Amino acid sequence: MHVVVIGAGVIGLSVATELARRGASVTVVEQEAPGVGTSATSFAWVNANNKEPRDYYELNLAGLEAHHRLARDADGGWLVAGGHLEIATELAHRDELGQRVTRLRNLGYDVELISPARARQLAPDLIIPVDAGPIAYFAREAHCYPQLYLGFLLATAADLGVQVIGGARVTSFHLDSDQPAVRLADGAVIGGDQFVSCVGRWTETLLARADVTLPMATFERAGDATVGYLAVTNPLPLSLARLITTSRLNVRPDGAGRLLLQALDLDSTADPRDVPTTDSGLAGEFLNRLTSVLRNTGAAAITQLRVGQRAIPADGRTVAGPLPSAPRLYVVATHSGVTLAPLLGTLVAEEILGAPQPLLAAFRPDRLLDGAVRHRPLPARRPGQQ
Ligand SMILES: Cc1cc2nc3c(=O)[nH]c(=O)nc-3n(C[C@H](O)[C@H](O)[C@H](O)COP(=O)(O)OP(=O)(O)OC[C@H]3O[C@@H](n4cnc5c(N)ncnc54)[C@H](O)[C@@H]3O)c2cc1C
Repeated sequence: MHVVVIGAGVIGLSVATELARRGASVTVVEQEAPGVGTSATSFAWVNANNKEPRDYYELNLAGLEAHHRLARDADGGWLVAGGHLEIATELAHRDELGQRVTRLRNLGYDVELISPARARQLAPDLIIPVDAGPIAYFAREAHCYPQLYLGFLLATAADLGVQVIGGARVTSFHLDSDQPAVRLADGAVIGGDQFVSCVGRWTETLLARADVTLPMATFERAGDATVGYLAVTNPLPLSLARLITTSRLNVRPDGAGRLLLQALDLDSTADPRDVPTTDSGLAGEFLNRLTSVLRNTGAAAITQLRVGQRAIPADGRTVAGPLPSAPRLYVVATHSGVTLAPLLGTLVAEEILGAPQPLLAAFRPDRLLDGAVRHRPLPARRPGQQ
């Protein structure tokens, strides 16, 4: 079977490599270059922490475990399995965290409430305010270096004979003919037995080319749930081996001594058309917050400030399945794609090769198609989400 995968982010490359591992011949077509989409601007926290409803939680939990398995089997340096420490420093967050920990424990999720002394052992440079609320430790959670993960996927694709074509934008589908194919912007035609759309936030635009309406949450104004800042620091002399979230700042190592920062309330001004500079007031606010969370950050500077654009189907949940009107075209679109990529790669490859996957049954595209769900603003991100 020859499968054409459209889009070379973490999802498309994971689907492509898992198909090739199972014997399929695979071509990946990417409009720009591999990894330049949302996969290049991600906080990349691997977790099932605040994922609802239940079936979406189960999917993310399986995604977290799939990452651990893949990283162990492939000796993958992209996954930092150091866990996640969460401290509630503000009142509303204290209550919410307490309730979330109870709910997650009842589901059997790996979380414990720990003492400040234990938190200091886990993160020696962490500043714990005297009036801090509960501290939760999610030992199984992890963070990913997306560039290393993309590099691993590209190397695996090359070893397995997958052809990855950059600068190849799909502009139309010809799926009903005897020789099903996609056409590229330069007029080239690429035939296949099966096609997989893995184009993230471009899903709605691409599927319109197949006369299908699958609504994605779109960016409309600053602060939409689809957009968020990511700030990178210079290398800093401190000890941090795991991801930390507080009421005002999420922080994790970003490699080579740098830190990656995220603050969900600051996202209210995020606009990809107007990104503040690294010496802006916003950058200063990130630094203020950082110095109140970690010691040895007095010399911190923001070296990159970016606005990421999330790929979120209109009801917030994953889409994975063939289109009823065009079964040769299988669609994958999801937020939390870094967490889910190894799992979705495996499940989607199995389905395309003929083995239906019960874990995907709740995520079929049908629920969103052709007016079943309309565009509407998604709620702002909450603690424990990214
Ligand atoms: C600020 C922010 C924080 C995030 N934090 C986390 C987190 O902590 N944990 C987590 O798990 N996830 C997180 N995410 C989400 C995660 O990064 C994404 O879900 C994931 O990267 C999506 O990968 P993808 O492969 O679906 O999309 P992309 O990486 O966008 O890849 C899609 C590719 O399709 C290509 N394409 C588009 N149209 C065409 C066409 N017509 N023809 C050919 N190619 C085309 C694009 O060029 C692109 O390369 C975050 C996202 C953001 C923005």
